[in-house]
Amino acid sequence: MRNAPCPACRAPKTPGQYLCRTCWFTVPAPARRALTRRDTQAVARLRVLLDHINRGLPLAELEIAA
Ligand SMILES: [Zn+2]
Repeated sequence: MRNAPCPACRAPKTPGQYLCRTCWFTVPAPARRALTRRDTQAVARLRVLLDHINRGLPLAELEIAA
């Protein structure tokens, strides 16, 4: 799999992680906890994250239902 850059700021990121470290720690803790959970809703949560970024909203305002 290609090592895609961070979807929010285009900086290089660790493969297998959604965001680079800087952006990740900008995300509020509750949303971060939701995103790290790996269950059947994991893909749906990732979609919420990417949709938030695509709409140009600040990561600090990201809310993800647990
Ligand atoms: Zn980033």
